[in-house]
Amino acid sequence: MEQGKINVTTENIFPIIKKFLYSDHEIFLRELVSNAVDATQKLKTLVSLGKANTELGDITIEIIANKELKTLTVRDKGIGMTGEEVQKYINQIAFSSAEEFLEKYKGGDSANIIGHFGLGFYSAFMVASKVEIYTRSYLSDAVAVKWSCTGSPDYSMETCDKDTRGTEIVLYMADDTLEFLEDNRLVSLLKKYCRFLPVPIQCGMEKHYEKGEGEEKEKAVDRPRIINNTHPLWKESPATLTEEQYRDFYRELYPTTFEQPLFHIHLNVDYPFNLSGILYFPKVKNRLEIEKNRVQLYSNQVFITDQLEGVIPEFMMLLHGVLDSPDIPLNVSRSYLQSDTNVKKISAHITKKVADKLEDMFKNDRADFEKKWDDLKVFVQYGMITDEKFNDRAKIFYLFKNIENKYFTFEEYRSKIEPLQKDKDGNLIYLYTTHTADQSLYIKSATEKGYDTLLMDGFLDTHFINRLESTWEKCRFTRVDADVIDKLISKDEILPAKLSETETSKLKGFFDKVIDASRCTVMVEPLSETDLPVLITRDEFSRRFQDMNAWAGNNDFSHFDHYNLIVNGNHPLYGKLLTATDEQQQETLTRQLVDLALLSRNMLQGDQLNEFVQRSVDLLK
Ligand code: ADP
Repeated sequence: MEQGKINVTTENIFPIIKKFLYSDHEIFLRELVSNAVDATQKLKTLVSLGKANTELGDITIEIIANKELKTLTVRDKGIGMTGEEVQKYINQIAFSSAEEFLEKYKGGDSANIIGHFGLGFYSAFMVASKVEIYTRSYLSDAVAVKWSCTGSPDYSMETCDKDTRGTEIVLYMADDTLEFLEDNRLVSLLKKYCRFLPVPIQCGMEKHYEKGEGEEKEKAVDRPRIINNTHPLWKESPATLTEEQYRDFYRELYPTTFEQPLFHIHLNVDYPFNLSGILYFPKVKNRLEIEKNRVQLYSNQVFITDQLEGVIPEFMMLLHGVLDSPDIPLNVSRSYLQSDTNVKKISAHITKKVADKLEDMFKNDRADFEKKWDDLKVFVQYGMITDEKFNDRAKIFYLFKNIENKYFTFEEYRSKIEPLQKDKDGNLIYLYTTHTADQSLYIKSATEKGYDTLLMDGFLDTHFINRLESTWEKCRFTRVDADVIDKLISKDEILPAKLSETETSKLKGFFDKVIDASRCTVMVEPLSETDLPVLITRDEFSRRFQDMNAWAGNNDFSHFDHYNLIVNGNHPLYGKLLTATDEQQQETLTRQLVDLALLSRNMLQGDQLNEFVQRSVDLLK
């Protein structure tokens, strides 16, 4: 038996490993299973090159939990190690890289490190009080070796009996980590990290039902429970795959999601970086969707993370699917990741591929693209708002939708409204509605003038409008109810006022008396006789400001909920009102008019509504 100290620089690394990586204890399993997979793959390569004098045979990796002995074993049938190799790889190289990793970890903000790749074999000491390695090299004259270490830098090494090829890592679990021996916990961890590893991984047995013989209908047979799919779809060649396979794979990735994705992109790049993966486009309706079904990042089929902030463009996080790249550095801080050139290139590549796909769909089958548009819109808007490059591409295929459910590109829409919707200063006015039912009165006025109204009822529309206005010249977006239609798109001609100045201010006085001045401003305007006598409008700027605040979850701005009461001075009704001698009657009529306007906006409620109903009944008498 040989005794030794692993290294000299650190007196005792294990308590530090345990302490610093507290929240990430579970990754020990990923590290150990990845090592087992690597060892198996290496042997496979040697065998295929004819350089190993051994039959590959069954290469399934076994994970064995023993609750009585409190051990967890990872057993592979890979290349194994000779005594010298254990000395070199485990005692020296692995130890110093674990040490180096810890230094980095201590130096940085631990929460900012994704992946935590690099700790490797020694991560076993996050959960184990003692670790044993039993290993036998594939070389025909190899002698099996046992290595043992109890968590201080002292280890022991001796030859042992092991007649099968490969490595067995036995963890004696510490008392506070026995949870990892529970079947549920173990399987869910294996499913998380090892789901798509390229070598079969077995954990326990499962029942399988087979057709029975004779009388027996079905019989239960025990068979090894294999955790992983060794051939994930993204590794296959796209040309050989069917739509159904892509759909099945989506379900495999997100078993609890019933909704089908709209379409997918299969990425496959070898140069100048290595990237494969499948991105699915889900229907995106609101921001909650960012939280679930995240894009998963793999490195050579090992799950790394689904926290991809800073790795892929923000709006891409709305997508679902997998990315697999050994070229993304994983054991570094996120701020470093964001400045990494490879990450930047990969990020730009994904953006380009997504834009290519959307443009292709738009060009090849516009009708189908329009069908999908409502579900795609938020994604495209988010991309255009946050990503300059994507914005440049999307300008071509972004679609406006109007209240007739017709779709237009930016270009098409501009040509459509240019003849009529320019105001006297040459600004192009885009009219929109956020709610066709609530704003139908105003939409009707616009339509009667021959104007077109866009439907902007989406989750990001207010932001998107701001963005368009800030980049387009001589244009303005205005909601149909922001003012009377003639002022929204003001032309040169102004209607003459029928009322004198004195009459106008008298009329204004009537209304001022009955309204709530903290929420409402009265304005008398000379509109057409056929226009309504009173109309409620909401100033575009302050309304948008309030919408933005509401969007940000800020409700302190409700006092901005201010509206204008536009009194049509030219309406014939006002002759009667002004000449009436009964003051009480004047007030009743004015109140009735205000309430009618409020009613048409769905703003009449509670006591006010009751009063209105009672007054209407009285007036009918
Ligand atoms: P890494 O895997 O990043 O190289 P590790 O600390 O995980 O670092 O492992 C160190 C080395 O120990 C590996 O590179 C490999 O040579 C050897 N090793 C670890 N596990 C096994 C195993 N199951 N079979 C054969 N060799 C192994």
